[in-house]
Amino acid sequence: MSLHFVDQEKNKSCFDVYTKRATLLPISKYKLEDEPQESKVIRNLLIDELLLDGNAKQNLATFCQTDLSDESIQILMNACVQKNLIDKDEYPQMAEIEKRCVNIIGNLWNSPDSSTVGCSTTGSSEAAMLGGLALKKKWIENRKKQGKPIDKPNLVTGPVQVCWHKFALYFDIELREVPMEENRLCMTPKEMLELVDENTIGVVPTLGLTFTLQYENVKAIAEALDKYEKETGIYIPIHVDAASGGFVAPFLQPDIVWDFRLSRVKSINASGHKFGLTPLGCGWVVWNTKQDLHPDLVFNVNYLGGNMPTFSLNFSKPGGQVVCQYYNFLRHGRSGFTIIHQTCVDHGIFIGEEVKKIGIFDLIYDGRGGLPGVVWVLKKDAKVGFNLFDLSERMRSRGWQVAAYALPKNAQNIVVQRVVIRHGFSRDMAQMFIEDINRSIDYFAKHPMVSGLTQSEGQTFHH
Ligand SMILES: *Cc1c(COP(=O)(O)O)cnc(C)c1O
Repeated sequence: MSLHFVDQEKNKSCFDVYTKRATLLPISKYKLEDEPQESKVIRNLLIDELLLDGNAKQNLATFCQTDLSDESIQILMNACVQKNLIDKDEYPQMAEIEKRCVNIIGNLWNSPDSSTVGCSTTGSSEAAMLGGLALKKKWIENRKKQGKPIDKPNLVTGPVQVCWHKFALYFDIELREVPMEENRLCMTPKEMLELVDENTIGVVPTLGLTFTLQYENVKAIAEALDKYEKETGIYIPIHVDAASGGFVAPFLQPDIVWDFRLSRVKSINASGHKFGLTPLGCGWVVWNTKQDLHPDLVFNVNYLGGNMPTFSLNFSKPGGQVVCQYYNFLRHGRSGFTIIHQTCVDHGIFIGEEVKKIGIFDLIYDGRGGLPGVVWVLKKDAKVGFNLFDLSERMRSRGWQVAAYALPKNAQNIVVQRVVIRHGFSRDMAQMFIEDINRSIDYFAKHPMVSGLTQSEGQTFHH
């Protein structure tokens, strides 16, 4: 979560209190008051304040699920607020439902083995940490067996989401990230092979890159590592970061072989709260077999009664998300997920086609073959009085949140605009979005920006 630094100046300004009616005393925002307040008064103050946040439906920047039009989801979340997922003895049915989800997901990812093991997490970030830790533990075990040093583990990835930078930093792993190039926006076997060695704990391809929405070719990476093993005797496993793609590819691209059909893929993470359609706070990590998860990482705690194996960074957490995940599996089935995600893909392709017609943009992802959405750049020779940061800013005035960011190294000179399409977005909204893009461009034609921001400037992208 965000780290908040206390700002003494602001705490002393005239903005440091909520005021209700003029006759009542103000309520401090930054310090605990002595007396309790009326629930409804406080609730309304907070609801009013939160109105300033963006409207989730118009947020085309996030990958996360925010559609709550299905009232059953709300009812189930409410039914579970008092349940603690860690407390498997008191809430055995929650534990059972989590287990069924792991089964369904292992099956969705074509795990051939009946000893699939996995758990829910708070999101893909925690799931990635657990997957990474399992790789590290296995590597240490193998190195010790061979009597070799264990002080320099590294992890090889393409351009990854920030959670892998965190994993590397927090757990002392050298991250070897294949940089992007202008004409190659993901990791391919060639660059990967240049970075792996006997200290590589694993290779992590991404199914649905944060920056471009495309899939890295897991099969080609696996085959390259097969060949590498033949030549060198060094075995390197794969963990797939399928945060988004894990709940898209099985439905829309079942022929892409990226999962446990490849024996080198030992573990996979995905976010239930992205294309798993579950409310925020749900991720999954699954290992193909029990042997892929070192038993030393599993804790058996008995102080809640009973004895349950756990592997997690958190202890207590809510269970509603897991129940909603299970609800979604039962509610939608394969064809339901397929229709929902295909509809999103179609909207993405539609927006891409319309954006292309405007004539000043080039698509770098046209919405086909990866995640639902589209990514574009300004044409190099486009003579316009704005850049993509300006356009994002302008679209914000109509409520749209569209990401604009510079790609990571070595493609920092390319600034892109990305639209992610999620469940709940409609063709009607797509049309209104395009109208607003055109309206913004007309505006800039009359009022060109003189901010001096050039295409290559601006901050780097944060998710
Ligand atoms: C979103 C994302 C993550 C982080 O997932 P959370 O569920 O937000 O923790 C990791 N990797 C990729 C590729 C992602 O898209």
